[in-house]
Amino acid sequence: DIAPPKIEIGKSKALYEQAQKSIPGGVNSPARAFKSVGGTPLFIESAQGAYMTDVDGNEYIDYVGSWGPMIFGHADSDVVHAVQDQATSSTSFGAPTRIEIDVAELVCDLVPSIESVRMVNSGTEATMSAVRVARGFTGRDKIIKFKGNYHGHGDFFLMEAGSGPLTHGTPNSPGVTAGNAEDTLLAEYNDVENVRNLVEAHDDNVACIIVEPIAGNMGCIPPEPGFLEGLREICDEHGVVLIFDEVMTGFRVAPGGAQERYGVTPDMTCLGKIIGGGLPVGAYGGKKEIMNHVSPVGPVYQAGTLSGNPLAMRAGYAVLSKIKETQDTLYDELEAYGAALEEGLADTLDRLGLDYYQTRVGAMGCLFFTEEKVVDQATAKSTDAEMYANYFHGLLDEGVYFAPSQFEAYFFGTEHAERELETTLEAQYDVLKRIH
Ligand code: PMP
Repeated sequence: DIAPPKIEIGKSKALYEQAQKSIPGGVNSPARAFKSVGGTPLFIESAQGAYMTDVDGNEYIDYVGSWGPMIFGHADSDVVHAVQDQATSSTSFGAPTRIEIDVAELVCDLVPSIESVRMVNSGTEATMSAVRVARGFTGRDKIIKFKGNYHGHGDFFLMEAGSGPLTHGTPNSPGVTAGNAEDTLLAEYNDVENVRNLVEAHDDNVACIIVEPIAGNMGCIPPEPGFLEGLREICDEHGVVLIFDEVMTGFRVAPGGAQERYGVTPDMTCLGKIIGGGLPVGAYGGKKEIMNHVSPVGPVYQAGTLSGNPLAMRAGYAVLSKIKETQDTLYDELEAYGAALEEGLADTLDRLGLDYYQTRVGAMGCLFFTEEKVVDQATAKSTDAEMYANYFHGLLDEGVYFAPSQFEAYFFGTEHAERELETTLEAQYDVLKRIH
C-alpha cells in the first residue's frame, strides 16, 4: 500500500472514475495507468517547457516528456507555429506534399545509414513494417527479438516485450497466435553468443534481428561493449537484416541516434517519438536496396491514409531542422544536464549509504532499485518494485514527475536547466531518505 498523496488530486480522481466508464482502464495506453506504482493517474491540463500542470493545478518537472518526443520541451514555439500555420491550409490531403521530401531529406542527412525512408503514424507501425520488409527482402520467416525489448504492439513482438507487459506482469499477450509466436525467436539482451546459437540453429531462416540499441523499455540498459558489433557480424555472416529500433534513441543520444553514438551501422532503422515533435509520427528506412522492396516500387505492401500527414510533418520538420542547426551544442548541453543529474544522484546515494544501480546515455537514463548490475531482463527484474513505487510517489509530492514504472527510462530536454536540476536533486535526496 502506498501512502496517500500529499498534494490535492481530487479532479484527477474524478476524471479517472469517469474515464473508466467509457475507456478501457480509463486510459488510451496502459503505461499511463499507474498500475505498477498504484494510485491515481494524473490528468494533465497543459505543459510548457520542462513543466506539466495537472487538472488540479499541481506543477511537475517532467521527466517523461510524452515518453520521449519532447527534446525541446513542451509547446516549443517553433512546433506550435508550424502546426498553427499548417492547420489553416488543411490538416490532410492524402496526396504528396513538399514537406514530406523536406523531412525525408533531413532524416537521411542526420542518419546516414537511412538512404530512403517511409513515414508512418507510430513507432509500432514503423517496426511492424520494417520486419515485413526484411522478410520480403530475405524471403525468410523468423525474426529474433530480445527479451525485455519493446517494439510496439505488433503481434509478433508481444513476447517478453518489456515496458507495459513487463510492468503489468503479462509477458505474452492473449490474442497472439501460436504461428506468430513460433516465428519470433527470443534472445537475451547483451548476449552475442546466445544470438549466434539461435541463428545457427535456425538454418538460415532468420530474416532479421531487431534490437533496441540502448534498451529503454526495461529501464534504461546500455549495450555492453561488443554487443552491437557482435550482432552486426552475425548478420553479415548469415545474410540477416539488422534492424535498430531507434524509436526512443533516435535524435536523443546523438543526431544520428545510437548507431552514431556506438559506431555500428544497421541495415534498417525504425524511428518515432522525437521525429514527430509530439505529433503521431513514426518512420522506417535503410539501404535503398532493401527499401526498394516497398510498395509502390516493390511488392511489399505498406500504406497509410494519414502517413506523412502535413501537420505531423510540419511539427517534425520544426524539430529536426532545429536539431540539425544546433547539433554542435545541443548534445553537449543535454550531456551536461544528464551528467549533473547522474552525479547528483550518485552523491545522494552515497550520502544515504545506498548502493542502487544507475544507468544513463545522454538524455535518457534510469535508477534501478537493485544493487546488481543490470544488463538484461533477468537482472532488471531483480529490482524492488515497491521501493520504486514509493520513490515515484514521493517525487510526485515534491513536484517531480518520473515514469510511473521501474521498467521505463527517464527523459529530459533542453528546457531542463539549473533550477530544475536543483529541485530534482533535492527532491531525490529527501524522498530516498524518507523511504528507507
Ligand atoms: N519501439 C520502441 C523502442 C519504443 O520505445 C516504442 C514506444 N515506447 C515503440 C517502438 C512503439 O512506439 P509507439 O508507441 O509510437 O507505437
